[in-house]
Parts: sequence; structure tokens; C-alpha cells
Amino acid sequence: MITNLKLKHLDYFLDIYAPVDFLPTHGKGSRLYDVNNNMVIDFSAGIAVNSLGHAHPALTGAIVDQASKLWHCSNIMVNQPSIELARLLVEKSCFDKVFFCNSGTEANEAALKLARRYALKNFDKKNKIVAFKNSFHGRTLFAVSVGGQTKYSQDFAPLPSGIEHGIFNDINSAISLINHETAAVIVEPIQAEGGVITADINFLKKLRELCDKYNAILIFDEVQTGIGRTGKLFAYEHYGVEPDIISLAKALGCGFPIGAILIKEKFANGFDIGSHGTTFGGNPLACSVAIVALKIISNPEFLTQVSNKSTDFFNMLNNINNELQIYEEIRGTGLLIGAELKNEYKNKARNLMDLGFKYGVATLTATTNVTRFTPPLIINPIDISYGFERFYNAIKEFKVTNINN
Ligand SMILES: *Cc1c(COP(=O)(O)O)cnc(C)c1O
Repeated sequence: MITNLKLKHLDYFLDIYAPVDFLPTHGKGSRLYDVNNNMVIDFSAGIAVNSLGHAHPALTGAIVDQASKLWHCSNIMVNQPSIELARLLVEKSCFDKVFFCNSGTEANEAALKLARRYALKNFDKKNKIVAFKNSFHGRTLFAVSVGGQTKYSQDFAPLPSGIEHGIFNDINSAISLINHETAAVIVEPIQAEGGVITADINFLKKLRELCDKYNAILIFDEVQTGIGRTGKLFAYEHYGVEPDIISLAKALGCGFPIGAILIKEKFANGFDIGSHGTTFGGNPLACSVAIVALKIISNPEFLTQVSNKSTDFFNMLNNINNELQIYEEIRGTGLLIGAELKNEYKNKARNLMDLGFKYGVATLTATTNVTRFTPPLIINPIDISYGFERFYNAIKEFKVTNINN
């Protein structure tokens, strides 16, 4: 059996991920184990995906049960789990219609295509998409072009056109870009990959106002913030702003791949029969898992717990930082938390993440200068403090070995 990932994976894989030096073979709750039972406390949850932790009995039960009934039949037939999941998503949100796909980038692709087609059907000369710098919307060519980080798109020209990038949280920048030619505005309520930067309430309100004024579709990319991550089922609920479409993926299947867009009735006729599609979208296995996950996470008591855990998490991180002084700012909402390094340690977030694994705690980065924490939403107080004990030791070594001169 292969036990050392570093040694073996490049024999077979494209060299694009730079994985850490830990090869998990199983997990339970917020703990991951390798073949020798070395244990890592998981403050990453597969990048905000495994919100119910690893090997949750209800999810395992759901997938085993569905696996003996029906795996796949494509969208030439509907299936019961997909109808049930769509019904739950509509009931628990401000939206009316659902389209299922398999990932976040595909969800955004669908949202943007729907917006373009809606504008084409209903208006003249209306196809522009307004997005924001520093945003992340996925890796298909349309998504990297709409995303606000040129490092992900510049090597793949020619790119799709008709896309403009404003400055995030800058109302004047939005005013200058959004007009009669705008088909859609897409924004993350919290820029997650971009460093965990929260949208100002007035900025989002202004986007809503401008989209209403110019008949543009307001899309919130909730691929990372959706399904309980911020302590509400959807992040838009924090703002009192209802978008026209949201995209979902990451935590929707809690580890089983599934994506979705939720759409207001008014814009549902942007697509007609044959306008768009996918082979796997609405797959019964994926939907069976997502139904159970959604029922658990959408429980108000569960969401209150997320907010309580968030307070504990912030307190412990702030305490460590008060003593060790490596972060300039600690920010975020719910259990989507970012900590930006001080100048002395600028751009060394990856080194700290590697040291975390050395000491037995899995964290993430967001940009090269921010440590990102997205623990499973079910993490208990014991594992939060256990993880931070380990992270404390990682920071101590980090401080000695990684100071910029
Ligand atoms: C992860 C992410 C995506 C892309 O999702 P994939 O499933 O990797 O395609 C898009 N938008 C946001 C905000 C994300 O966090």
C-alpha cells in the first residue's frame, strides 16, 4: 500500500496541487487518521465541504441505503431524491426553482448562462457581466474569466468577453459599471479564497438597488458561504438582501459532489427545454446525501450552535494571537474565519499550514497571506481546544523559522 503521498503521487498526477505531507485513510467527526493512526484535527473540512465531519452515521446511512436502490438514470427521467432535495431547498430559501449540477464552477456557469439568455430573450444589447476584483468563482473558462484574480485566467486567453470587474465593497465602482447593458452582477457575500473579506451591507444593498434599476440579475456565489457555514443557512440572510440567483456546491453534499443554483421564479424562463443540461446533475446518490445533510444543518438549533462555536473559535484564536502576535487581523463569520499575517510573516501562510500538519492540525490558506479555518460545523469544544493546542506549537516553530528580514 502507498503510505507516502509525496513520494508517489507525481508518478501519476499532473503537478497542480502541492499537497501536504499527510495521507489520510479514514476519519471520524473532526479527526483524520493515516494508515498508522496518526491523528490530525481537521480545521479545514475539505475546504468548507465536510460540514458534518467525516463518516457521519446519518450520511453513511443515506448513501448505503440509496446505493442499493438507484445510482443514476440521467435527466431523461426525474428521480425521487432530486425532487425531495429541490423541494427542501425551495422551502428553506427565498427562491422558487432549482437546477442541479456537480460542482461550484458549474453552478456559476449555469447562473451566468441563464442570466445572459434571460437578457437576450427580454432586452436589446444586454449581455455584460459585472464581477469584482479578488473574487473566486471556479475554474471553468467562463468562471476564471468572471473571477477577479487574473492569475487564474491570464494564461488561457482568448477569454470569454463582455465581463467587467469592479472594486469589491466600492459603491462608486459598482455605480460606474452597472447600467442598461448589464445582464448580471455576481458577487461573493464573503470573498473566501480572496482572504475571507466580508461584503459591506451597504455595498450589497446598492448592488440590489442597481440591479433592480437596470433589470440586471443579481447572483450571489454562495458556494463556500452557503449551507450553514456562516451560522445562517445562506449568507444572504445576514444582509436582508435577496439575490435573484444563488450558486451552491461545497457543503451541499457534505463531501459527495453536487452543485446547484436556486432561482427566483421571475428569471426561471431564462432557460427553455434544451438550453442547458448535465448528465450527472440531480444524481440520486448525491441528492440522498444532500437531503439528510440539509435536514440536519437547517435545524435552527444546529445553526445557533455554529454561531456559539464560532465565538469559541474566535476567542481561542485571539488568545493565541495576543500571546504570539503573528496575525494583523482575525475576521470572518460563523466558521469561515481568516487570519491575516503581520508584515514580518508576509506571504508565509503556506509554511504555517505545513507546520500545522506537522503538529497534527489541518488548516487552509486563502491567498498567500491569510490562514483560513473552515472546521466541520459539528466540531466539539474538545477538538477546538485540542486543535488550537497543536496550532499553538506550530506557530511557535513558525515564528522561529519564518520571520522575514
Ligand atoms: C470553491 C468555490 C467555487 C468553485 O467550486 P468547485 O466545486 O471547485 O468548482 C466557486 N465559488 C466559490 C465562492 C468557491 O468557494
